[in-house]
Amino acid sequence: MKRRPEGWTFGESLLNWLNAPRRDRERISQLLDDLKALERIPAYAEDGKKRLVAVNRELRSYIQRPVCFVGTTQARSASDERTEKVVIVFESEPAVGQRYREQQAVAAIVQLAERGLFSRLRRCQYKACRKWVLAWREDQRFCPGGVCKKAYERASPEYAEYQKIYQRESRKRERDKQRKAKIGAYRK
Ligand SMILES: [Zn+2]
Repeated sequence: MKRRPEGWTFGESLLNWLNAPRRDRERISQLLDDLKALERIPAYAEDGKKRLVAVNRELRSYIQRPVCFVGTTQARSASDERTEKVVIVFESEPAVGQRYREQQAVAAIVQLAERGLFSRLRRCQYKACRKWVLAWREDQRFCPGGVCKKAYERASPEYAEYQKIYQRESRKRERDKQRKAKIGAYRK
């Protein structure tokens, strides 16, 4: 089995849905961006409180309802006889409505957060990508695979500076070589 980051059960369909280039993903993307901003603001900061109120107002339209299941379990009676026992189980599912797929997305976000994995849900830091990823580790900032990380580094000012110096040096080396070749030609 292919290895997956923690929380993939909840994250997979959420990410596939979020990263599809469709206009109807914008509301949840925006909600997530707001939640991510909250992560960076200290809890006591005034703008953080305002943002939190706004986020909770937005969340009000995502409603879950309990769904009941009937199952059976094996039980042992006092005389050590096996008996079947009926058990009632509840699960939450998004309330059916216009925004059903969005409701499922919010449910997945909640499930990730309940498992302490909300911070792992983040945008790739490469500006031309910005896809949502479920990070393997706390310090992962780009899509898995390394392509976005390399592209980001190539686009960074430090890399441009390095390239400038490297090209200046290699032009100088080339000139020196040609000069030496010329001197050699005169001597012949
Ligand atoms: Zn990326």
